[in-house]
Amino acid sequence: MTRLSSYFLPTEKEAPADAEALSHKLMVRAGLIRQIGAGLWSWLPAGWRVQARIGTILREEINRIGGHEMLMPVIQPAELWKRSGRYAIEELFKLEDRRGAELVLAMTHEEAVTSHVAQVVRSYRDLPLILYHVQTKGRDEPRPRAGVLRTREFVMKDSYSFDRDQAGLDQSYARHIEAYDRIFDRAGLRWYRVSGDVGLMGGSGAHEYMAPCAAGENEVALAPGYAANVEVASATAQPVALEGPLDAPQEVSTPGASTIAGVATLLGLAPGALLKAYPVVVEPRGLVLVLLRGDHRVNELKLAGTLGGDWRPASEEEIAAQLGPAGFIGPAGLDGRLPILLDDAVGDGPYVTGANRADTHLRGVQPGRDFSFERADIRRVEVGDLVDGHPIEIEPAIEVGNIFQLGTRYSQAFGASYLDEHGQEQPIWMGCYGIGPARIAAAAVEQYADEAGISWPLAIAPFAVHLVVLGKPGGAERELADSVYQTLVDGGVEVCYDDRDLGAGEKFADAELLGCPLRLTVGRRSLEQREIEVQVRRGREARAGLAADELLARVEELCRELG
Ligand code: ATP
Ligand code: MG
Repeated sequence: MTRLSSYFLPTEKEAPADAEALSHKLMVRAGLIRQIGAGLWSWLPAGWRVQARIGTILREEINRIGGHEMLMPVIQPAELWKRSGRYAIEELFKLEDRRGAELVLAMTHEEAVTSHVAQVVRSYRDLPLILYHVQTKGRDEPRPRAGVLRTREFVMKDSYSFDRDQAGLDQSYARHIEAYDRIFDRAGLRWYRVSGDVGLMGGSGAHEYMAPCAAGENEVALAPGYAANVEVASATAQPVALEGPLDAPQEVSTPGASTIAGVATLLGLAPGALLKAYPVVVEPRGLVLVLLRGDHRVNELKLAGTLGGDWRPASEEEIAAQLGPAGFIGPAGLDGRLPILLDDAVGDGPYVTGANRADTHLRGVQPGRDFSFERADIRRVEVGDLVDGHPIEIEPAIEVGNIFQLGTRYSQAFGASYLDEHGQEQPIWMGCYGIGPARIAAAAVEQYADEAGISWPLAIAPFAVHLVVLGKPGGAERELADSVYQTLVDGGVEVCYDDRDLGAGEKFADAELLGCPLRLTVGRRSLEQREIEVQVRRGREARAGLAADELLARVEELCRELG
């Protein structure tokens, strides 16, 4: 029974003062969530219904690909995490029990699930296997933000696949893609599956599911048939007008011009006709000079992948000691003195570069002729770069899910192996697959809200129908509304019934804020015409009234249309 007169739905006219993201503001205002500490949130009854509905979709779809649901604890012995090499992660909450034993709050469950599988699986006949749970995670995030988008405790659906080899893993991975595509479609989100960073986990494949919206912390590069996280995206750079070639580099005086923009303006050139020098220090190699087109930016993740080790930007002192004054650095004449890494988008030139002397640049510098180099793709893609001839766009997005080929990293740490047909011991190949239901909820709020409030996709709405009665308690409107409520509940429709003794304005405002897909109103007019008013929340569109005697059939019809 959900009668608002006795429900816990604390709606607010004002958003929390610190809220920036739309989903943060609206989910608090609609009475779905409440904060209890930094990055720590409670889900109030209506909000929890949203998570529960998302949970049902997740379970149905992971069960459909053969997953088996289980439950593993959040509190775990630190020993497991030491064994996997993840104990040092700063986000990992560490604690002690009363006897001083070291424990952690699990941030995912690879350690736990792999140790179970290591104990149980013996033979190739026990594989493949997909295990999953829907469980709380603890993460000491450095910057909890945006309501439930990045919290320090959250529920995750995480599944784990166990296979005999890479080919088996590929199949489990493909099944998860199928399940995930269906999950996000069913949840009613706009989403993209993008190639993601394989990162420190060192796996062989990764995709992220991204829901585009303003509050997103990620950026996705999009072109017809192409979607990639900007962290890993590659594209063909836009052409740039260059100067004519010279027989050899020529000095040009550039007093005080130590930035790309400054030099470009001074010489009347496009920024892309210059080379940007980015000296970095790589342990243990020392200084490496990274060069890219003046209109491009370094992609730190790609650069880290190329340098294959820890690196940091060189200090002004280090630059001055080995090259020259910062702001006037260039590659010409450095051959043999230090390695030069040239971005793929840099062409044959000629380019303008620093001369390694104060207030001086060189024009006519040509890679290959004037300096030797190694090449790599280390730049961030820019709007308008081309993929297969199509310009890319870059959109902010929320990462709602993540699938990842782990390979044998965890199975080796935990001794998870099996005997093949020839009695040979082989490591188990693993994949891991996460989804954050809270982010699905927040992404849906972000994507569909309007100035009046939330507009849920039917599949994850707290209620399909928000029934509003206008008129005093004890009046004839009440009687009709009570019977409408009963009819819908008996028919299996999820309804919240606003039977509070409040004015029409307040009730409608709360209904639009909460965002259930259909609003039914019973008022004086309903009595006169035996008709119940209908509004479709998305677009706030009034529909033809429903005759009381065909109410259920018509509501079901509308739900089919919206679902
Ligand atoms: P992010 O890059 O946003 O930190 P992640 O790569 O750490 O995410 P995973 O460890 O792959 O995320 O977790 C799987 C899913 O769990 C994510 O796709 C996201 O939906 C959800 N999730 C991760 N961290 C949080 C968090 N701090 N708060 C809420 N949901 C989260
Ligand atoms: Mg994270």
